[in-house]
Amino acid sequence: MQYRINRRTGDKISEIGMGTAYVVEAVRQEAVRTVRRAYEGGINYFDLAAADGTAFSTFGEALADVRDEVMYQIHFGADYSRVTYGWTLDLDTVKRSIDKQLKDLKTDYINYGFIHCQDESKDWAKYKKNGILEYLLEMKEHGVVKHIGASSHTPAVIQEILDTDLIDMLMFSVNPAYDYNHGEYAYGGVDERTEVYKRCEKLGVGISVMKPFSGGQLLNAKTSPFGKALTLYQCIRYALDRPGVLTVLPGAQSVEEIELLLKYYEQPEEALDYSVIGSFAPPEAGGKCVYCNHCQPCPAGIDIAAVNKFYDLVKIGDEMAREHYLALDKNAADCVACGHCNSRCPFSVDQVGRMKEIRELIP
Ligand code: SF4
Ligand code: SF4
Repeated sequence: MQYRINRRTGDKISEIGMGTAYVVEAVRQEAVRTVRRAYEGGINYFDLAAADGTAFSTFGEALADVRDEVMYQIHFGADYSRVTYGWTLDLDTVKRSIDKQLKDLKTDYINYGFIHCQDESKDWAKYKKNGILEYLLEMKEHGVVKHIGASSHTPAVIQEILDTDLIDMLMFSVNPAYDYNHGEYAYGGVDERTEVYKRCEKLGVGISVMKPFSGGQLLNAKTSPFGKALTLYQCIRYALDRPGVLTVLPGAQSVEEIELLLKYYEQPEEALDYSVIGSFAPPEAGGKCVYCNHCQPCPAGIDIAAVNKFYDLVKIGDEMAREHYLALDKNAADCVACGHCNSRCPFSVDQVGRMKEIRELIP
């Protein structure tokens, strides 16, 4: 397992985390074994926006003895009073739900208390008006909640929440289908969604990724909006390559499914190459680097994806990205304009021109 640091909290978070959408579908003891195997495999970050309230006692049973080694995202606005998940903006319901979740989890604290699923501005306004945000902040003051997060599918609402400077973690739906305007939660265009990734990276707000496989649709050629299936591993790499992303949260309902996810780190680079999505990209995505590194090898030894990612962040004023860029062994100054990358890029990026532009901006 590899880990990434949340710059605002210092937490060391596993690149592969776990969501709870599917684990409730397993019989109880298999669900407990699944969660425990995830922990044993190095997964230390769990989202608890479960489809069903039974998930909390499953986690309590699986992880109570190692509670301080794992982190939970718990959602203020997810209601389990009818056992199956419900969404609520009612303060008393939220309070009851949080109390019950903590009891079932056998814990008295929450690593990341989440402003839950705000997809519309009017709901976010109501969330504040109804006192739920205030309650969450009080819980933080009392030390029950360590850090604040937010989940949303909507770039415009995310930008409003980021404006408050309250959150240290964002849960966002990230996959090539949504980024390219396909699927149930493909909110915002490519550029609007990219702005979210870049702003989070600049602010140090970590992104935890929900729906990395677009609800499984991307894994099957019949359901993929591109008519072509991607693998689990291509989707995970795609999400991990977006600026700001710290962890991807796939669901799993068996020990075997956890084993399969953990094999991500055994894959050769070719198996992680997701550049095939270049052939599905909408016109507005053309000519923009997605940091896939399909254009390697560069004869000058430049990590083309890293150079481009840092450059895009420097352009929005991310000074840390400038430092990272300058710390690279090779950068745009080393480009010999051979044109190999231009001929390889499935996104029609004029990388020779980009390298020149980068040299000029960051001498
Ligand atoms: S230039 Fe093209 S192939 Fe190379 S990293 Fe960027 S998008 Fe990928
Ligand atoms: S044009 Fe520059 S960046 Fe691209 S492969 Fe050649 S040396 Fe590397």
